[in-house]
Amino acid sequence: ERVVDAQAGDLERAAEAALRPGSLGEFVGQPKLRAQLDLVLTAAAQRGAAPDHVLLSGPPGLGKTTLAMIIAAETGGVLRPTSGPAVQHAGDLAAILSSLNEHDVLFIDEIHRLARAAEEMLYLAMEDFRVDVVVGKGPGATSIPLTLPRFTVVGATTRAGLLPAPLRDRFGLTGHLEFYSDDELERVLTRSAGLLNATLDPQAAALLAARSRGTPRIANRLLRRVQDWAQVHGTGALDLAATEAALELFEVDAKGLDRLDRAVLHALCTRFGGGPVGLTTLAVAVGEEAETVETVAEPFLVREGFIVRSPRGRMATAAAYHHLGLTPPADGAF
Ligand code: ADP
Repeated sequence: ERVVDAQAGDLERAAEAALRPGSLGEFVGQPKLRAQLDLVLTAAAQRGAAPDHVLLSGPPGLGKTTLAMIIAAETGGVLRPTSGPAVQHAGDLAAILSSLNEHDVLFIDEIHRLARAAEEMLYLAMEDFRVDVVVGKGPGATSIPLTLPRFTVVGATTRAGLLPAPLRDRFGLTGHLEFYSDDELERVLTRSAGLLNATLDPQAAALLAARSRGTPRIANRLLRRVQDWAQVHGTGALDLAATEAALELFEVDAKGLDRLDRAVLHALCTRFGGGPVGLTTLAVAVGEEAETVETVAEPFLVREGFIVRSPRGRMATAAAYHHLGLTPPADGAF
């Protein structure tokens, strides 16, 4: 359970729901994608038609689910959420498809993890608005074609590159969500504080934004912890003092790194002389699973330029040494 995790825990969804923007106008940032979606949705509404299928790609916590909800609100249909891993059999998908109504939005999170058979059923449904329902088993099985109402698929993926081309080609609009600037995150935070019936001090907003790793989900989570701190130990005001204290309690540093991130960097710089070192060795040194280090800590450390991956292993950059207050070795690779 990390306060800077870009994924949401199950219990967190309700807290998040209260902060979700309900329209494109309220959605902060992503100006290009917002303008593209606005055009497609407005044109479809003018024609009284369902909008084209939309594929949203990008790291977790940047607003893919939120945009799917906004699209459904615009089409006036119902949002039907599912996910790649939840659809194990083509029959699961057939059941969902055959229950859709005109202008509903079928949201498929982690669409790159759909089972093959379901994927093929989806091609037909997206292109021809048709599904073949198989009735019976064995040689006596028959396939009954069923015409579907016009609906819109919104697919979300953190790994657009893993989508097979035939699936990718069936989306009329593909948008990539970028990390948010500090300025945009300040706006997210100020809006969220208002929804929590609080006022966020501008200095506190700037400090939180800088530590949120470009991710609204993390920004909102840190804000909730600041609110907790202010309520329990402070004056109730979301001011700079409460913000600094909460960030210190949760060990989030000036770059948004937490204890695990720093432990990885520290091991790399001090125990392995800056590397290169293999992932497994590094993970053992910090007492974590290799997968945790690779998926939880490393992406942000690479993105921030603290670690580089090389064929011989992970290496620390000079920036990593400086961040930890250490002197980089004179003969270092950087
Ligand atoms: P994803 O589906 O990409 O993992 P979500 O759509 O669930 O991300 O967003 C995570 C949280 O961040 C939600 O609480 C949402 O309200 C908030 N959020 C995401 N993007 C924005 C945005 N552009 N403006 C305001 N809040 C946002």
